[in-house]
Amino acid sequence: MPKKGQVKCPVCGQMFMKDEIPNKHFKNRYYHIDCFEKVNKNEIVKEKIYEKMRRLLGDSFNQNRIAAQIKKYTTENNYSIVGIYRALCYWYDVKNSDPSRAKGGIGIVPFIYQDAADYYAQLEQINIYNKTIDYTEPKERTYVIHPKPIGRPRGIKLIPMKR
Ligand SMILES: [Zn+2]
Repeated sequence: MPKKGQVKCPVCGQMFMKDEIPNKHFKNRYYHIDCFEKVNKNEIVKEKIYEKMRRLLGDSFNQNRIAAQIKKYTTENNYSIVGIYRALCYWYDVKNSDPSRAKGGIGIVPFIYQDAADYYAQLEQINIYNKTIDYTEPKERTYVIHPKPIGRPRGIKLIPMKR
């Protein structure tokens, strides 16, 4: 029997003392702060998937089918919701694939998930690399160019400035 004040986090299933461990009280349940944020984030991303697919598929958009597919991929394939969303961005935004073959759902995901993950990992590498360059490169100088240089002192050559 659980002790008084002991609750079960609905996300990770662990028991904890609600007066001792920081938690979020939501709809009569107690969540670890981290667990609650994770769930919330997933809900937000899931909405983004629906939004994106609704826009792409128009009338053929089938939210029930997509919801079932998300559930299947996250449990059976162990995909993350963010990963699924990225796979769809990769397929439709990067690869410009034709949504008319989607049959109202996101059945393409298992075929592109790894490619998309590789693509975004590489992109991240490039971003990190670019950030390093930004950091080490000297600041760009601003040159003020006068429209009409008049009366330059004798003996001084004007060297065209590179821009
Ligand atoms: Zn938890």
